[in-house]
Amino acid sequence: MNIIDIIVKKKNNKELIYDELFFVVDSYINDKITDYQMSAFLMAVCINDMTDKEIYNLTTIFINSGDVIDFDYLNTTIVDKHSTGGVGDKTTLIVAPLVAACGVKVIKMSGKGLGHTGGTIDKLESIPGFNVNLSEDELLKQINDINVAIISQTKNLVPADKKIYALRDVSGTVESIPLIASSIMSKKIASGADKIVIDLKVGNGALIKNINDARRLARLMIKIGNYFKKEVVCVVTNMNFPLGLSIGNSLEVLESIQTLLGQGPKDLEQVVISLATYMVSLGKNISYENAKQEVINKLNNREALDKFMQLIKSQNGDIKKVEVSKKEQKIYSTKTGYINNIDAYQLGNIAKKLGAGRMTKDDSINYKVGIVLHKQVNDYVTNNELLATIYYEDELLDTDEILQAYTISDNEIKQEIIYEVIK
Ligand code: URA
Repeated sequence: MNIIDIIVKKKNNKELIYDELFFVVDSYINDKITDYQMSAFLMAVCINDMTDKEIYNLTTIFINSGDVIDFDYLNTTIVDKHSTGGVGDKTTLIVAPLVAACGVKVIKMSGKGLGHTGGTIDKLESIPGFNVNLSEDELLKQINDINVAIISQTKNLVPADKKIYALRDVSGTVESIPLIASSIMSKKIASGADKIVIDLKVGNGALIKNINDARRLARLMIKIGNYFKKEVVCVVTNMNFPLGLSIGNSLEVLESIQTLLGQGPKDLEQVVISLATYMVSLGKNISYENAKQEVINKLNNREALDKFMQLIKSQNGDIKKVEVSKKEQKIYSTKTGYINNIDAYQLGNIAKKLGAGRMTKDDSINYKVGIVLHKQVNDYVTNNELLATIYYEDELLDTDEILQAYTISDNEIKQEIIYEVIK
């Protein structure tokens, strides 16, 4: 087999067979083909798309490139959640203990984040002492004791995706729907999930910018899931504006606790209840209505909050030591009107500038910095009213840059947070 023939075949929009796809992936991970050949192949996929059969085969090849985790010995249904990522997204910190409080076992493997703010693991590591690397015995004990663990993804989980994703990132080929579907689903399946709930974010702060692409990605991920006998539900949510009011690692941990106390922002609460309800419904095989009732009870009676505290304690974290920077910069509105939007992409970049996120995997992160919004999208604001507090460490930000993220007008243009659910 020859890589040039395969690139040309894909360029001519012909369907590739399993062996050809295997040859491409295997040669790339073993350094037998070059970055420029792989980039040409990925670009041909981007332009000509993939058939369902190609996507199933690529996902299978990805899964088998590394460890495949098997939780069968736990003798229970493992329900997982995944978010396609966005600004202020702390849903895992709330949903995992909430679902566990409802009696469903949750083993969440998460990654460190690249981009505006950290990933779930960075947020948890902002709690001093929190251990994200449990041994198999510790994991088993914790799952038996408290139903929930959030741990760092093992290094050898879908290594083919890791290497190819890094190349996609620098070759303009990230935004290919079949490549995204295969990348996400291979990791979920390899990490041992039986049932999967996906928070698919759409908007200018997300990878997917429009609803039609979101629908196609959702349907593809459901099809891949079904091919591997996994049930998948996709909740399509709005990422034009940040989720909740806090952006930044420690700040997001604190907002998660507020939400578990029933005092969180409404948009965040709505997304969390929806994701948790689908997870409980799938995990216990009960109706959406019954699952929702359980989820709301566990929020109201604080059992979900207790579960989060048990999780932190069991993984050696000390919540009392979470720190936020003492240096504050207040941002006041220069307009009166309805907040039609707060640009998630711009605020994400500002958070990154503060040090809340990283550009390369080796960059360090400052857990203490971030942004707290005092007004959310759809709110009314008057001139000189407080819009946001910036928690910074090094230097003050340019106020105008922050104000530019806001669209304020005389017209109330309501934005919804959950667009639709695709099953
Ligand atoms: N997230 C992933 O894990 N993979 C993609 O390709 C895009 C988003």
